[in-house]
Amino acid sequence: MRELAHLDWPFLEEGHGVFAAELDAWAREHVAHIHGPDVDAACRALVRSLGDGGWLRHAVGGAHGAQEVIDTRAICLARETLAYHNGLADFAFAMQGLGSGAISLQGTPAQKERYLPRVARGEAIAAFALSEPDAGSDVGNLQCGAHIEGDHAVLTGEKTWISNGGIADFYVVFCRTGEAPGPRGISAFVVDADTPGFEIAERIEVIAPHPLARLRFHDCRIPLSQRIGAPGEGFKVAMRTLDVFRTSVAAAALGFARRAMDEALKRATTRRMFNQTLADFQLTQAKLAQMATTIDSAALLVYRAAWLRDQGQNVTKEAAMAKMTATEGAQQVIDAAVQMFGGLGVMHGQVVEQLYREIRSLRIYEGATEVQQLIIARELLKETRG
Ligand SMILES: Cc1cc2nc3c(=O)[nH]c(=O)nc-3n(C[C@H](O)[C@H](O)[C@H](O)COP(=O)(O)OP(=O)(O)OC[C@H]3O[C@@H](n4cnc5c(N)ncnc54)[C@H](O)[C@@H]3O)c2cc1C
Repeated sequence: MRELAHLDWPFLEEGHGVFAAELDAWAREHVAHIHGPDVDAACRALVRSLGDGGWLRHAVGGAHGAQEVIDTRAICLARETLAYHNGLADFAFAMQGLGSGAISLQGTPAQKERYLPRVARGEAIAAFALSEPDAGSDVGNLQCGAHIEGDHAVLTGEKTWISNGGIADFYVVFCRTGEAPGPRGISAFVVDADTPGFEIAERIEVIAPHPLARLRFHDCRIPLSQRIGAPGEGFKVAMRTLDVFRTSVAAAALGFARRAMDEALKRATTRRMFNQTLADFQLTQAKLAQMATTIDSAALLVYRAAWLRDQGQNVTKEAAMAKMTATEGAQQVIDAAVQMFGGLGVMHGQVVEQLYREIRSLRIYEGATEVQQLIIARELLKETRG
C-alpha cells in the first residue's frame, strides 16, 4: 500500500530507491513491532537491531559510515521509511546520527575511531546536549559552563530535553567557555556517561514516550582530547550538525503523514455509513485531496533541500522551508485522519492516535516553526538587500 512513487523523482539517484525499498521491507519485518511499555528497553533493542541490519552506517560519516560524506538524501529516506513503520525506530536512527554528527563532521581521528564504529554497529548510544532550561530557541545564550584546568575542561551546569538522556553511552555537550560573548564563546565536548560529576537529574515523560532527561554536571572533568573542534567553535559545530539533520526532521514528519494518509484511505474506503462508504462523500474526498497535496508539497521541499545539500550548497532557507511545511502539514494530515476514524481515532493503541502524539514535538524541536519562519525571512531579506 505504501506510496513509493517519489523514489523516481530526479532529486534521487537509483541507489537511493533501492536503499529505501530494502529498508522498507526490512523495517516491516524487524522493527514495526518493537514498542514500549519499557521505552528504554525498546530503544536499546531498536538501536541494536538497526546496527545489526547495517542501517546505522548511514547515520555516520567518514570511514566508519556508509559514505565518506553523510548522504542527506539517504538519511531522509531512512527517517521517512522508519517513521512510517515505527516512530521510536525513527527516533533511534535519528539520535545515533544527531548524537554522533559533530564527531562525524569535525571530530579528531582518535574521536572518530573511539565512537563512530560503535555507533554504526548499534553498540554505543549517542546523545546531543544543547538545550538548557533557559536556553531553548535562544540557544546562543546557553549557560552550562566549562573552565580549563591544565589538560582538562571542568563542566558545571545543566542541560534539558536531551533525547536518549538516561540510556546514552556518551553525550556531545555544548558549554560556555568564554572565548567571546554569545555564540562565539561556546565549545563542544564528548562526555562519557560514566564520567564522575555527570548525572541524570530527572527523567522527563512526554506525550509520545521516548528516553528524555535533564542532565546535571558538577565539577565534571573532561580531558581536552574530548573537545570537538577549536575552542569557541562549539556553536558552529552545533549548527553544522543541525544543518544536516533539520531536513531529516521534515522527512520523519513526511513518514508520519504518509502513514496517516494510508490509514485514512483504508478506513474511508471500508467504513460504511448512510448506505455508502465514508470515501463516497465529497466532503471526505476534499479532505483526502488536501492531505495528498500537503504530503506531496512537503516531499518536494524535503528532497529538494536534501538534494541541494548533497550538491554542497547552502540550504539554510530550503531546510527551514522543508521543516516548517512538512511538520505543520503532517500535523494537519494526521488530525484529518484521526477525524475520519471517529471515536476509534482517539483510542489508545490505534495507529492514528499514536501518530497524533508522535508528530507534536517535531514542530518544536530542532527549531520551532516560528524560528524557521524567522530563518526563511532573514535569508529572503539578505538576498533582497544584498
Ligand atoms: C521531545 C523533545 C526532544 C528534544 N530533544 C533534544 C535533544 O536531543 N537535544 C537538545 O539539545 N534539545 C532537545 N530538545 C529541545 C528543543 O530543541 C527545544 O525544546 C526547542 O528548541 C524549544 O526550546 P524551549 O522548549 O526552551 O522553548 P522556548 O525557547 O521557550 O520557546 C517556546 C515557544 O516560543 C515560540 N518562539 C520561539 N522563538 C520565537 C520567536 N523568535 N518569535 C515568536 N515566537 C517564538 C515557539 O512557538 C516556541 O515553541 C527536545 C525537545 C523536545 C520537546
